[in-house]
Amino acid sequence: MEFQMQLPVGVAGMVERLQESGYAAYLVGGCVRDALSGLQPHDYDITTDATPDEIVAVFGETSCTYYGKAFGTVCVKQGSDSAEITTFRTEGAYSDARHPDTVIFSKHVEDDLSRRDFTCNAIAYDPRTGLLDPYHGAEDLQQGILRAVGTPADRFHEDALRIMRGMRFYARFGLVPEPATETAMRECAPGLDKISAERVFTELCGMLMGAHITEVLEKFPEVLAVRIPEITPCIGFAQHSRYHDFTVWEHIARTVGNAVPDLTVRIAMLLHDIAKPDCFTMDARGGHFKGHAALGAKKADVILQRLRCDNRMRETAVQLIYWHRFTPREMPQVRRMLGKMGEVKFRQYLAVLDADRVSKQRITTESRRKIDRAEALLEECLQKDLCCTIRQLAVSGNDLKALGYEGREIGQMLQAMLDAVITGEIPNEREALLAYAGPVGTV
Ligand code: ATP
Ligand code: MG
Repeated sequence: MEFQMQLPVGVAGMVERLQESGYAAYLVGGCVRDALSGLQPHDYDITTDATPDEIVAVFGETSCTYYGKAFGTVCVKQGSDSAEITTFRTEGAYSDARHPDTVIFSKHVEDDLSRRDFTCNAIAYDPRTGLLDPYHGAEDLQQGILRAVGTPADRFHEDALRIMRGMRFYARFGLVPEPATETAMRECAPGLDKISAERVFTELCGMLMGAHITEVLEKFPEVLAVRIPEITPCIGFAQHSRYHDFTVWEHIARTVGNAVPDLTVRIAMLLHDIAKPDCFTMDARGGHFKGHAALGAKKADVILQRLRCDNRMRETAVQLIYWHRFTPREMPQVRRMLGKMGEVKFRQYLAVLDADRVSKQRITTESRRKIDRAEALLEECLQKDLCCTIRQLAVSGNDLKALGYEGREIGQMLQAMLDAVITGEIPNEREALLAYAGPVGTV
């Protein structure tokens, strides 16, 4: 036997126990695919002819958690290891392009492999006998090919989410869809409008983090446009600028791939120039996109709400987009931005600037000097613990109350003091601040 999969003890034990009890049992899906690619699997799926009740009878109630019995999946825990054990099944018709109308259990592993999405995910592994690979997934994997199991268009009509899963596998593992699969991914894309926003967004996030995301975005913009129609005007939009070698969409695709692997930053890159077509003007010097950062931030906010992105990530991405055309040159600007964003976001913002910078031309000529300066100012600010927020002022709201300030005046005076500290008008010292505020009514 050529290929041998290293399994966690608990997982190997589960396969053995099922087999000793007279059932067929195989590892299947992502774990086999990952192991064949030399990657560490992140979870283990076992497929068996045992029914859910029989699985529970083998392992005992206390080791098992049911995941929707109807789908035939039981999560089994053995020591510190766990696996999802699923009964062989074939699927009935899909009338909604989302869920099979019925799940039919089967006694044959081949049936189970035939309902899986891509050949690389339709490989079963029995530790005693090795791979069972009727669709030659191992070969496709080796050659870097993504191929739908069966007739691609039928499979994507059944479940359009498979299209986005395919894009994710392309982005993550560099598996390029073979021609028939690629064509069907495009043709069946309208079916994605029936998939829940949460599932679409999960796949989108998964693909954005992949090393091959630039290629995927360049190849399948119209697929993404089904759920993000705002990208359509960006596709093929010429920038008429000597600073840009690429269309808006090509540039966006590059920025995502060139960005650090931080999901929030990559989401920001995906949407950072979304308003460029709206803001385009042209004069003798070429194309301009005045206001696209602010408008882009607004549009991104709408898009990310629609995709059910969590609020924190949405708000950060929107802020990063809003600031992406500006680089602070002076310490007061850095202090104001740092006060608004905090250190983590400020660093994400610098990452956005850099991804943008290196994605404009085939060979980047724009130097990193401006970003380096902003970064150096940030480091200096942090190292000296300079005051950037009202909380860091050497006086508090209570001190102002003692001077007779009330209600909104307190917040206004604190803000005025912060501004004066940041511009260097006064030091962040108690005496100086109290003198600046003076008794109420003096300002
Ligand atoms: P990941 O590394 O993201 O976990 P995976 O391939 O393991 O990748 P899962 O969602 O864990 O993905 O699914 C496990 C297996 O179930 C897949 O490998 C595939 O065989 C099958 N599968 C999952 N979703 C679908 C689907 N929508 N259509 C057909 N088969 C699917
Ligand atoms: Mg998995």
